[in-house]
Formats: sequence, structure tokens, C-alpha cells
Amino acid sequence: MANQEKEDELEQLRLEMKRVTEEILHKVSRRMKIAAEIGAVKAKRGLEIKDEKAEGEMRQVVNKVADEIGLERTFASRLLNILLTESEAVQFSNRAQRNAPKQTHLGVFARAKALEADGRKIIHLEVGEPDFAAPASVGVALGDSFNSRQYHYTDVQGIPKLRRALADKIKRQEDQLIITPGGRFAVFAAIAGLLREGDELIITEPAWPAYRECAEFVGATVRSVRSSLEDCWAPDPEKIVQLVNPATRMIVLNYPNNPTGKVLDSGLMDRLVSLARKHGLYLLSDEVYSEYSFRPFVSALDYDYDRIIAVSSFSKTYAMTGFRIGYACSSRDVIAAMKKVQAIGITSVAEPIQIAAAAALKEDVSQNAKIMKQRLDYVCERLEGMRLKFAKPEGGMYVYAKLPAGLRDADFVEMLLENGVAVAPGSGFGDAYGNFIRISACAPIDALKGGMDKLNDVLETAHN
Ligand code: PLP
Repeated sequence: MANQEKEDELEQLRLEMKRVTEEILHKVSRRMKIAAEIGAVKAKRGLEIKDEKAEGEMRQVVNKVADEIGLERTFASRLLNILLTESEAVQFSNRAQRNAPKQTHLGVFARAKALEADGRKIIHLEVGEPDFAAPASVGVALGDSFNSRQYHYTDVQGIPKLRRALADKIKRQEDQLIITPGGRFAVFAAIAGLLREGDELIITEPAWPAYRECAEFVGATVRSVRSSLEDCWAPDPEKIVQLVNPATRMIVLNYPNNPTGKVLDSGLMDRLVSLARKHGLYLLSDEVYSEYSFRPFVSALDYDYDRIIAVSSFSKTYAMTGFRIGYACSSRDVIAAMKKVQAIGITSVAEPIQIAAAAALKEDVSQNAKIMKQRLDYVCERLEGMRLKFAKPEGGMYVYAKLPAGLRDADFVEMLLENGVAVAPGSGFGDAYGNFIRISACAPIDALKGGMDKLNDVLETAHN
């Protein structure tokens, strides 16, 4: 073919491409207008914006058409998710409910601090950080690192000394580990490194809100499986299977669980791992409370599947929240994807902090878990006598309790705060849990006693 002819052919194809792109945009615009109309009808009829059934039907149509026209189902599903997210945004923007600020434990903490600044005394049972002292050797290591000028950029994955010590502890290789600024960043690096816009991630609720926040931040779609107090907070694998579709990429688990204190038994964990394996999904297991497990704990690391990512932290185990240090363990490929996020975002974790963490690893802190269990036992004993329902925590640092019928978390939390006790509203862990509160046992027994006395009084007043 002569050069001129080749040029003309390319030009023709580009013109065709422009025309098709224009058509797509016109269709998307039409779709958005229909979404707005649907939103108006739903508002008139008082219907929820989210409609899982309608979405499910749409997914089936998309899969069918994708098969017919030879488009990859995964790509078609991701595209659909982007469209669904935008349609939802259009509908929400026309309703006030999206803008209604949600009450979270951080919001309650800020309110409690403001009351304290006004001279009020507040018992803090909303916080999620242990009140124990970090091991003394941590402070010594921190000082030593300064004196020996060990305060430089490090390998993105973390200093060899710390990775070696961790690798020995969890029986893995050093290159299967990445040290991160807290468990939270490990969660973010995994989600941002492995998921793209339109991909789906499944969480089991109630859940620590960061999973949803990270996923939505990267444009992924969150699907949730709700567990219930009646089932002692055990997630139903069948419900998870029902959500899996070509766009599904990851399942997130967190046991011992924040907020419920649930610990999975090995049978259930086996099923969840096989489910992830069968569908080729990543399994992100957030195990930051593993040392606060009051029954045998099954770690995702006990399984040999290269898409498992186990996240842990020094925050809870060693009471080192403000040091901001955690880690993740996975296959080399997954760690490479996470390393990219970390390199872009932070270069490396502060060297002195990594050195301090290596010192912490040598300490026996099992006493912390024993104290936490005693406190949780005390809280449960007191709650038994009140009109609150709960499942006794098998791990973690919290009790997630159901309020008597007719009481909503926001109102009750406010009432309690006015009486000098701060607890976390249950809906911060999932929209379906607006009749729960989370009580943290990160306070000494005498503070817990004061808190439980007040809780009892406020419950009685609210009832009468
Ligand atoms: N995962 C869960 C379930 C948590 O509750 C928390 C903190 O509250 C974290 C991870 C994050 O801990 P950090 O970033 O301090 O390591």
C-alpha cells in the first residue's frame, strides 16, 4: 500500500473513532437524564435511591450483551459500575440525604473534647486506641536511632532489620512484607494498588469505615453483606457468593472484628478462602486485633493462596497508635503493587519509627490482651443487667450493643454525651446499624464503672 493510501486509511479510522465516541457521549448524556427522572419518581414515591434488584437485572443484561457482541464481561461490568455510580450521584445530588452529615466516633470524640474545654468531665468510651503505655524499649530505641543518626530515607518496603524480624515471627520471606505507616495505609495501598475504577469489593458489615472510604476514593464499587446480632455476627458465605460478578476483585475480612468482637472459626474461614480462590479474588484480611483474640485465632496467613493480603499493625498490639506503623504480608506480585502506591505516596516509613517497632517486637505484651479481656468481661457483666442486647466479644476491644426498640443511635449518643459519657454511634459501621452503639474498653475499670453507671441511668430515663 502506498504511503498516501495508508494515511487515508488511518484518517478514515480516526474519523470513525471520533464519531463512535460522540455517539457514546450522547447516549451517556441521555442515560444521565433518565437517571435524574428516575430519581424524581423515587423521591415522589418515597423510595430509596439504591435499588439492588434493579441493578442486578441490569448486570444480567450487560453480561448477556457482552457475550453476544464478544466484549469481555469484566470490562463490561466495570463500565456498568461507572455508569451506575454516576446515576446514583445524580439522584443523590437532588436529595438532601446525601449531604446530611453522618455521626461517627471521631465526631463524637471532637464533641467530647469541646465539652471538656468548657470544663465538663467526660468518660471516653468512644476511642479506638489502647490506653496502655508502649514498651519502654521503644523509647530507648527511638533515642538510640537519633544518636546514631539513623534517620534517613529507607527502602520503600521497610528496613531489612524489621522485615527480617517480622518474617521470622510470621514464617514468611522478607520480600513478602511491606512496612507501612499504620494498618490503615496498608489497607489503602492494597485497595489502591489492586483495584481500578469500576472494580467491585465486598465487605461484611458492620465494618470499620476505612474499607469503603478507600474503595470509593479509587472509584471502586462497594457491595456489602450484612451480618446480624442474631447470627452472632457470623458472615454468610452464601450471601457473598450471590454478590460475585465479573467485576468483583476483592473481599475484605476483619477478624477479630471492629466493632463486633467476632472471631471467625476455622470452618468459616476455610469456606471464605475457597470462595476467594474459586473466583480468583483478592482476600484482604485485616488482622490488626489478632493479639486481642480470646479464642484460637485463624489467620489468613495460615492459608497458601497468593491473593491473600494480611494486614497488621503495631497500633493495638503494642499501644503505638501515634507511631503510625503497620505492615502487610502477601505474594511478591501483590507487594509490588502496594509498593508502587507507597513509593508514590510517602517514599518510606520514618526510619526511627521502624527501628522503634523492631524493638517492640522483642517484647511480651500478652498482658495487654488479658487486661482488655477483663475489662470487656466487666462491661458485658454490667450490660447484662440493662435493656441492651449484645453478643459477648470473642476478641477486639469493643462491645457492640443494640439499643431498646425506639431509640436511635444519634439521639442516644447525644443524650449520653450530655451526661458525661462518650460512645460511638453504631451507624458509623454501616447504615443498617442505627440502633447500635459501640462501647470501647480502652479505659481502666473505674472509668468503665462510671461509664456503665451513667449508661444505665440514661437508659432508664430514656425508657420512662
Ligand atoms: N483496622 C481496623 C479494623 C481498625 O479498627 C483500625 C483502627 O482503629 C485500623 C485497622 C488502623 O490502625 P492503624 O492505622 O493505627 O494501624
